[in-house]
Amino acid sequence: MSWQTYRIATVRGIPLELHLSLVIAALWLISQFGWITGLFIQLCLLVSIALHELGHSLVGMRLGCRVRRIVLTFIGGAAQMEHIPSRPLGEFLMAAAGPAVSLLLGLTGLLGGAYFPRLELPDSKFNPFMILGVLNIGLLLFNLLPAFPMDGGRILRAVLTPRFGRLQATIFAARLGRILAVLMGIRAFFPFNLFLLAIAFFVFTAAGQEELAVRIQEATRQGHPFAPLFNLFTTPEPPVAPDQVEVSPPPFRRGRRERVDLEVDDSPP
Ligand SMILES: [Zn+2]
Repeated sequence: MSWQTYRIATVRGIPLELHLSLVIAALWLISQFGWITGLFIQLCLLVSIALHELGHSLVGMRLGCRVRRIVLTFIGGAAQMEHIPSRPLGEFLMAAAGPAVSLLLGLTGLLGGAYFPRLELPDSKFNPFMILGVLNIGLLLFNLLPAFPMDGGRILRAVLTPRFGRLQATIFAARLGRILAVLMGIRAFFPFNLFLLAIAFFVFTAAGQEELAVRIQEATRQGHPFAPLFNLFTTPEPPVAPDQVEVSPPPFRRGRRERVDLEVDDSPP
């Protein structure tokens, strides 16, 4: 993804990168809302998603994770992390940090809109504070859906893990994610909505990857006789998606580098 992304800043040592697909998103927003409003919405989205991802990242770093980078794409953002917390409380705190930031931004926007009701953008008459508020409440609600790969899926897994174990909890949250993706995919055709279809596709794939990654981790950890077979799925060079990072050596201690899905979340608007 190197030529497709452009580094714009580094926060606390975390590179913040923009993906080329954002140009399409910006053009689409401009075509729908006009130049000023379109660019304002795009800017609001980027800042909101970046802060949401930084919320995950900074809490993750306090819990001993290493954050490789944050990438913002046209369907949201992803913080790529190494050694995500596997204990339920750690995962819960890290997953909840992003939505907490969105809630704060959303409330700020809604309160600002109520306080400055006459403020409006010249080409659409939208209140800029309300745009900030509505976007972030939307991000919050979408991310709290209790299914992988959304933050809600991680929170659900953290809650279910003590009772059912990490593997069963992951399978449950990942299946919910795929059901949700199919429903979104069907909805995307009535009327046709390419954006929603892209999100549905992303959610479906990411949910499956999360389940596969945890199956591999569990099989390897337990010394399962078929563990090397599972590992076939991840070697030698799986397609590089924004939600894949290299981890080495844990959780794999086999002496060679493995790729595993450790994506923290996505935040489609
Ligand atoms: Zn998130």
